[in-house]
Amino acid sequence: MRSVKLNGKKIYPSKIICVGRNYVDHIRELGNEIPAEPVIFLKPNSAISSQVRSSADVDIHYEGEMVLLVLAGRLAGVGFGLDLTKRQLQTSLKAKGLPWERAKAFDGAAVFSEFVIFDGNIDDLRLELYINGRLAQQGGCDLMMHKPDSILAEVRTFLSLEDGDLIMTGTPGGVGEIHPGDEFTGKIFAGQEPVVEASWVVR
Ligand code: ZN
Repeated sequence: MRSVKLNGKKIYPSKIICVGRNYVDHIRELGNEIPAEPVIFLKPNSAISSQVRSSADVDIHYEGEMVLLVLAGRLAGVGFGLDLTKRQLQTSLKAKGLPWERAKAFDGAAVFSEFVIFDGNIDDLRLELYINGRLAQQGGCDLMMHKPDSILAEVRTFLSLEDGDLIMTGTPGGVGEIHPGDEFTGKIFAGQEPVVEASWVVR
């Protein structure tokens, strides 16, 4: 089993629950419809990685996301995540009405910072993603169509949550392709206060 770190200790997520189409600006950039209820899909534990790997064969897109960690059924921790996506493949799977796993659940498709326990107001959290020092994505709970508490309530209607399970809360606008050598820096803030920061160089 792959692990992430929560305040320096290893924790083993049984699953990664992902919310699609949660920011209007990202829905528009992909030309999708605004969904009535959250679009939810899973990544397996085996997708977890601490490295960002590009592929010579297919285009892989980054999606910078705020990620919440569940303990005792509550949203207890926060980290920064990259939901890596084989975009052309996802587009062709979507067009055929097929599941997205080949495009979203592959090895290395879920890259995470360390997580920290967060006991402030979750709705104050926001993210910034810098690529080679340029601000590429930013967003926060105020811009989400489905806020963390309502995502948690919706997920609970059909999934049991284990300690360490992760919820990727969707990506704001500004997604794009990764290239070898790019430096990604993800930051989470509570209001103006920095909470998490991590950097990766694309391999
Ligand atoms: Zn995503």
